[in-house]
Amino acid sequence: MRDIPKPYEHRLQPGQVVNLDQITTRGKDLHPDRSEAEAEFKALRKELREWQYKLYAEDKQKLLIVLQAMDAGGKDSTIRRVFQGVNPQGVQITSFKVPSSKERAHDFLWRIHNAVPGKGMIGVFNRSHYEDVLVVRVDELVPTAVWQARYELINDFEKMLAQTGTRILKFCLHISLGEQKERLQARLDDPTKNWKFELGDLEKRQQWPQYRAAYNDALTYCNTPNAPWYVIPADQKWYRNLAISRILVQTLRDMNPQTPPVSLDLSQITIE
Ligand code: ATP
Repeated sequence: MRDIPKPYEHRLQPGQVVNLDQITTRGKDLHPDRSEAEAEFKALRKELREWQYKLYAEDKQKLLIVLQAMDAGGKDSTIRRVFQGVNPQGVQITSFKVPSSKERAHDFLWRIHNAVPGKGMIGVFNRSHYEDVLVVRVDELVPTAVWQARYELINDFEKMLAQTGTRILKFCLHISLGEQKERLQARLDDPTKNWKFELGDLEKRQQWPQYRAAYNDALTYCNTPNAPWYVIPADQKWYRNLAISRILVQTLRDMNPQTPPVSLDLSQITIE
């Protein structure tokens, strides 16, 4: 088993007042060698598959991974690359879109709670309840007092999940304005990516400072020991994949799931 350097790299400090402008988006400044990083990532991905197999077999613990990012921040490709080859039966991925009328008829955490992983499962949220203090705040979809009260409600909810056996990791994929421009441009230029382009993404790009402020507050107010935030430099996908895999594998090593003990004496069993 390989040693992973700095296991809790990119984890926000407890009580840290976050200013994303002061946190680098450039993974390439943090790692000297891309091919070395890719080799380590592949080894970690293999280890992740082994741990997931045990987590599923053990059927006791739960792992929730929350992914948040600005548009084109790489949530989809993180899921595709990091979980490549993992047994799909043991991973439940939920993408949270604009709430339906049925979802809006309930409290904002109703649809979230319904999607958290059960025993033996890894749950991945592509967007999450944090949208309710991000887009909802920036677009003024509810009165200020309503979204402001949500930080505490989110902390209480995540505390409840943690206390009832869910390990929580929250990743903010941190890209620069320049990198977002390139990725959105690629959606215009590359016919295979045209389908991803939405005019609404340009509107949100105009609101970058407002989103920045909303992210800073969400990361500051909802960074708890039970549900820590990691800000992942995500301009270089190869670094992002490595950083997230390191944290995932380190967490699973710590959870240390084991295949269940066998109660039968298997040596006495003959299959005719
Ligand atoms: P990509 O990030 O790959 O471009 P996407 O995540 O934007 O894809 P879409 O279906 O285009 O996928 O977007 C989902 C939309 O739903 C986002 O604009 C997001 O802000 C919005 N959304 C999610 N949760 C909420 C919420 N609670 N209230 C209002 N809007 C929400």
